[in-house]
Amino acid sequence: MIDLKRNSKKEPVQATGVRARESSSYTPNQTYDFKISRGRFSNFLICKRCFYLDRVMGLDPPGTPGWTLNETTDLLLKKEFDHCREKQIPHRLFTENGLGHAVPFDHPEMDNWRNSLHHGLMLRHKDTPIILTGGVDDIWQDTRTKQLFVVDYKSQAKNGVVDKQDYLDDPYHDGYKIQMDFYAYLLSGMGFDVHPTSYFLVCNAKRDDDGFHKTMTFDEYIVPYNWNSDWIESKVDEMVALMNQHEIPDSNECCKNCAYSEQYAKVVHPERNTGSKSVQRRLFL
Ligand code: SF4
Repeated sequence: MIDLKRNSKKEPVQATGVRARESSSYTPNQTYDFKISRGRFSNFLICKRCFYLDRVMGLDPPGTPGWTLNETTDLLLKKEFDHCREKQIPHRLFTENGLGHAVPFDHPEMDNWRNSLHHGLMLRHKDTPIILTGGVDDIWQDTRTKQLFVVDYKSQAKNGVVDKQDYLDDPYHDGYKIQMDFYAYLLSGMGFDVHPTSYFLVCNAKRDDDGFHKTMTFDEYIVPYNWNSDWIESKVDEMVALMNQHEIPDSNECCKNCAYSEQYAKVVHPERNTGSKSVQRRLFL
């Protein structure tokens, strides 16, 4: 997509491709704290090169537009669950999904934990300066055992009924499960007793209504997912080791962005189009 850089007045300004603030980049082997969000950790898993260029080299990648409709369902759900949190009563969806013994977790840090931009769940990684963060959508609590359920709200629009197993098996949802594993890892690491089952609250917009009529209707599903965080610590070790190296790592050959910039470099700089290495790779080296 085409992403124009704009100033605070929303006027287009020259894009430099690098971040203005040096503090947003990590210096290999630095000793002061540096936060890595769940989103950045996911980037590391997808493409080590893009993660490194962003977090260590300070490049400013193109952004994506805000998902305002999805954010609105999140915002409205938050209001519903906060009402139940305040009263410590089960949400209307709980009983019909066998969760009549649960209530939204009431904790003074809840708003901070949900604030993915400025706070989130936080956990220092071993004795490194890396602090892992993740803005969780919600946390529910089993009133009998006091264990916590990690919860993520998801909005989508698909025809028909959402099959819970298909939802979890969908390769496009692998990232959702990683997200859940990561939140559970953080919350457990922070000393909380986390229930082995987490929940996706899936809001599916109905596409077979006869018209819009100023209303979009949704079906709601609570999809249980048994999280697994066994793999996370070693991957974070790998990520920290990468951040402390000076060599730019390999890219993901399935990435259309890199393929595009490779073709871009060939077309715009044909004079450099010699030798066996890709043009784009030589631009990086
Ligand atoms: S393959 Fe290239 S553009 Fe794609 S994520 Fe990696 S470095 Fe970024």
